[in-house]
Amino acid sequence: MSAGILDGKALAAKMKEEIRAESAKLPRQPGLAVILVGDNGASQVYVRNKVKDCSDCGIACFDYHLPADTSLEQLLTLVEELNGRDDVDGILCQLPLPAHLPQTPVLEAISPDKDVDAFHPENMGKILRGDARYLPCTPGGIVELLREQGIDPAGKHCVVVGRSNIVGKPMALLLLQQNATVTVCHSRTPDLKAECLRADILVAAVGKENLITADMVKEGAVVIDVAMNRNAAGKLCGDVDYTAVAEKASYITPVPGGVGPMTRAMLMANTLTAAKYRQSK
Ligand code: NAP
Repeated sequence: MSAGILDGKALAAKMKEEIRAESAKLPRQPGLAVILVGDNGASQVYVRNKVKDCSDCGIACFDYHLPADTSLEQLLTLVEELNGRDDVDGILCQLPLPAHLPQTPVLEAISPDKDVDAFHPENMGKILRGDARYLPCTPGGIVELLREQGIDPAGKHCVVVGRSNIVGKPMALLLLQQNATVTVCHSRTPDLKAECLRADILVAAVGKENLITADMVKEGAVVIDVAMNRNAAGKLCGDVDYTAVAEKASYITPVPGGVGPMTRAMLMANTLTAAKYRQSK
């Protein structure tokens, strides 16, 4: 079997066109504030992509690049100012922050209404409860990819490898809400291969090249590769041994072009949702 490709790039482009059309109908242009502290190279690329996505979607982008020695007080003052601004519907602070800045008070300072990354405890609680205001971008993008392909997690055994607050845990919750039976694996899981072999839908979100090899994948499984690693040649790759696993899987996401573009599209979708919500109040 050679797997069908779950084409995140194509679906994200379609979603962005729809968001652009919806944004244009609103009385006021939606606005997203993006805060970057310091000069982390990868973060700068992510922020540039977000600025471009906003432009593609007809969303105003307010881009704040603060010096690496910004104090917590200065950062919180900016967040407070953005919380109060009418033209800002969504606020995100690009992670990771420089080592001297604690993440928790910053994420908790963003108004839950404007928390389009869904990292505020109030929004995480809503995700847990099953009435999310904003879907977490990466897991939400995966749900959309599966839906587009007509893959229904209900009744399936889903195995999520990785338990971070950003990907693994919310992914498991969204799959559970879609009536899957979910197993979550992590670095202390004794027999990862045995767990993965039980998966009808396998989501790898670790950050280790070739962690998931073909002998760990059930024939016909759907394989979602979240990770973004650089291999020895500097090429972007995921956790999954793509070529070999594609011979066994029914569907697979490529890296790049799978989950990454969907994460970006979901951020735009959440910003549109925030704008609609705030303009209806
Ligand atoms: P993270 O916070 O570092 O979490 C990694 C998880 O993997 C942890 O739960 C860890 O377990 C688990 N793990 C580590 N080694 C393992 C092993 N040998 N076997 C099984 N589990 C293992 O990473 P993250 O933020 O979730 O991101 C994961 C990957 O996805 C990264 O490559 C990141 O760049 C990528 N990512 C991509 C997107 C996208 O849009 N495509 C978005 C976000 C992240 P413990 O909890 O026990 O330590």
